[in-house]
Amino acid sequence: MEGPISNECFDVINPANGEVVSKAAAGHEGDTQEAIEASYAAFQDWAATPATKRAEILIRIYQLMLERQKELAQTISLEMGKPLKQAMGEVKNAADYVLWNAEEGKRIYGKTMQASEENKRLKVIQQPVGPVGAITPWNFPLAMVTRKLSPALAAGCTVVLKPAEQTPGSAVQFFKLAEEAGIPKGVLNLVTGNPAKIGDALLSDKRIRKIAFTGSTAVGKHLLKNAAEQVKRVSMELGGHAPLIVFEDADLEQAVTNILRAKFFNSGQTCISPNRIYVQESVKEEFLTLFKEKVEGLKVGNGLEDDVDLGPVVNKAGLEKAIEHVEDAVRNGANLIYGGNECKVTGCENGYFYSPTILSDVDEAMLISHQETFGPVASIFTFDDELEVVNKANNTDYGLAAYIFTQNLSRSVRVSEGLEYGMVGINDTVLAQVQGPFGGMKESGMGREGGPDGLADFLETKFISTII
Ligand code: NAP
Repeated sequence: MEGPISNECFDVINPANGEVVSKAAAGHEGDTQEAIEASYAAFQDWAATPATKRAEILIRIYQLMLERQKELAQTISLEMGKPLKQAMGEVKNAADYVLWNAEEGKRIYGKTMQASEENKRLKVIQQPVGPVGAITPWNFPLAMVTRKLSPALAAGCTVVLKPAEQTPGSAVQFFKLAEEAGIPKGVLNLVTGNPAKIGDALLSDKRIRKIAFTGSTAVGKHLLKNAAEQVKRVSMELGGHAPLIVFEDADLEQAVTNILRAKFFNSGQTCISPNRIYVQESVKEEFLTLFKEKVEGLKVGNGLEDDVDLGPVVNKAGLEKAIEHVEDAVRNGANLIYGGNECKVTGCENGYFYSPTILSDVDEAMLISHQETFGPVASIFTFDDELEVVNKANNTDYGLAAYIFTQNLSRSVRVSEGLEYGMVGINDTVLAQVQGPFGGMKESGMGREGGPDGLADFLETKFISTII
């Protein structure tokens, strides 16, 4: 791997204790242009490489990821604070996407059609879109990388990746093992550093045919506007504000166990984290008692220590946002049932820890009801009937994930069909499945990652008409 043209580096900080974990290359436009040049030069050969050969290399990457699972997980945990057990799970999930796309890449099919004339033959083929610019966030620093890179590679695209400044380490490790697995030079290119400069260089270069982005809706809109200049293809995995509805006919124990995991996993820093938990009025008290009992058992601490359930949030701004949302809610009439304070962790005095928090009696006027908190705060709303709650759940610009808990089959069908979200969990909150299309509607984005749709997003359709 080569260093940046400027020879400059920036510090990567551990949010658990404020210490410098490592230094990363401070890349700019020039570095991005070199990476684009390399990806463009490598594209024709990679696109022409048989899918079975591309799959062999991807499978080797998958194997190396599992061999280095702990090493990769430690980097993730050090750079963004996630408990090691969760980071190990992320590496496995990230590797599973590589394996699935390796296999799926062998099954890129075309079509033939019946022509209207005797001497005509009509067919459709699928071809890679071209060199791709991929931009990823810090909250799943490895899984977001492989969810883009593995379908791109399997489809025959080359890539320039810009990972988040907070978390470059696992991407660097991934690139080293991809090289070891036999990825040809120029097929995968990594530029860490200045987001606007790298992003603008990717957007303005005609050789980059697609931008694949995961991150906030605000940055997504900026990229979309600029990608329109050259009508570049885009996939946008953006922010969310997931409703989770608990009906009175739900198995409350099942609901609470799932909510605990979905809400506090990654300290609430997931795009599909339940931001609005709607509980039917008739079961509110029972729900709150069960939920509080479970939340009291969660342990906050340094992610590298054993048995920690919640690590720090990613930085000072993340901590301040959680504080602001809770203060605003309480000031406007919400009930603080549990938590609601910064946490002191021995040995990590400079860390950004926030207690797992439960608020009840939250309403639509509060900040937390329409902004992503991206922190460990569970907001409980109540409702009386089905139509009312579906309307409330849909009353947002976001449309990524929604969840319902009910034992009533007809209701589960009605409500899942009525929710304006790209993904709906019924008595289930684990939606990132390699086989399934992950992605959102409305301002949560466009395009899907995972499943056959994930691969299709990196393919162009070409119609070929022949007179024989
Ligand atoms: P972000 O601030 O939008 O950053 C995402 C990526 O974009 C980072 O690599 C960032 O670089 C880069 N970036 C920032 N400004 C840019 C610019 N002007 N041009 C090009 N790139 C730019 O989001 P985040 O805070 O890292 O991630 C959290 C957000 O991601 C949340 O909204 C969450 O819901 C969303 N998310 C969505 C999904 C999904 O699948 N839908 C999954 C995970 C996360 P730097 O880090 O260097 O600033």
